[in-house]
Amino acid sequence: MSDSRTDHDHGPTMLSRRNVLKAGAVLAAAPLVGGIAGRAEAATKAPVASGAFNARAYGNASATGRLEPLQIKRRAVRPNDVLLDVLYCGICHSDIHQTRNEWSTLPTVYPCVPGHEIIGKVAAVGSAVTKFKVGDIGGVGCMVDSCGTCENCRADREQNCLNGASFTYNSRDRATGENTLGGYSERMVVSERFVIRVPPGADLAATTPLLCAGITTFSPMQHWKLSSRQRVGVIGLGGLGHMAVKLAAARKAEVTVFTTSPGKIADAQRLGAREAVLWSDTAAMKRLANRFDLLISTVPQAFPMQPFMDVLALDGTLVNVGALNQLEGGLVGMSMAFGRKSLAGSVIGGIAETQEVIDYCAARSIKADVELIRPEQLNQAYDRVVARDVRYRFVIDLTTGKNA
Ligand code: NAP
Ligand code: ZN
Repeated sequence: MSDSRTDHDHGPTMLSRRNVLKAGAVLAAAPLVGGIAGRAEAATKAPVASGAFNARAYGNASATGRLEPLQIKRRAVRPNDVLLDVLYCGICHSDIHQTRNEWSTLPTVYPCVPGHEIIGKVAAVGSAVTKFKVGDIGGVGCMVDSCGTCENCRADREQNCLNGASFTYNSRDRATGENTLGGYSERMVVSERFVIRVPPGADLAATTPLLCAGITTFSPMQHWKLSSRQRVGVIGLGGLGHMAVKLAAARKAEVTVFTTSPGKIADAQRLGAREAVLWSDTAAMKRLANRFDLLISTVPQAFPMQPFMDVLALDGTLVNVGALNQLEGGLVGMSMAFGRKSLAGSVIGGIAETQEVIDYCAARSIKADVELIRPEQLNQAYDRVVARDVRYRFVIDLTTGKNA
């Protein structure tokens, strides 16, 4: 289900930047009200503070595994910063991995507020901001900062920053040194360089997932130059997978989905795949041997990869974006050598490329299939994602009480 209530205006603001920032100085942020469904109005009406301010958020205070309402501190708006009133935030499986401390190489710092598919309305801008004005719509994906000077940052590959990108949550805020807190939150302060422009008229809730699921699957298609009539396989039909199908179909590639869920076969075709194959269908796997130019795996954990190597064509590449812990052994060297096949990894995309996928999708009316939830439904939504029962992205509606 996608939401039709999300068209936005870009009307002129009555307040200058300076006034907005000044106005905020006299008002305090609202305290946390009630349970996970607590009323948002008070917090929303609190204007920009001149210093750090409090915001309502949802996350994990400790490694209990359940999300709860939290009150967090946001940094003061600096000259290059944008303050966003968050309207929508997608739920990525990475949020679940991180809040549950499932990544061995990226331990979780608590409290942890996840969320890196964020769209919000600009509530204030710092004095040096040129890209946004109050009332504009901005998006934030998986990164909020990087060194900006290393070879990779200079090549628009901030995600590969040699000094370590600052991710939207569970990372180090370069300005304050504190742990970054993500978009399951009423408000955020982000450097304008890391805020993506969202074109007017976009369906905001359904655009939100492009900021992670979209860019993560678009970037390998760009890098490996997936073109029309080439054959691409998408392994795992969840949030990333369904965007991969839509994005590959838009390039007129021939798309096959590999799924573990019989109930998703019809959906795969509706989304643009030519066929969908169950992993357990050994006859189909045999029929598809040596066929694919590119495979994109979105499976969230290690799995046997050799059956998928076998369906790659000569010189083909299996790009693993899903499984980020230790991969399963069992790859056969002879088979990869004789077919000159590659196994690769890829992580999100740079800021310029993220802007590109947002614009690319807006121009073609490509959007995610989303199910809107309220914050109090977060724990249920997490359970459904883990059970492979999301069709195909949950998005938290944080518009209550906001002029969205
Ligand atoms: P998701 O919505 O849960 O989709 C994953 C899909 O993988 C499932 O729907 C399921 O599809 C399939 N699957 C196969 N084996 C599974 C298993 N044992 N458990 C659960 N699902 C299984 O997840 P997502 O949000 O698309 O994220 C997928 C993975 O990508 C996560 O691990 C996430 O951390 C990672 N990620 C990586 C990047 C990056 O930059 N590299 C960016 C974002 C996310 P079928 O029912 O079709 O089998
Ligand atoms: Zn993500």
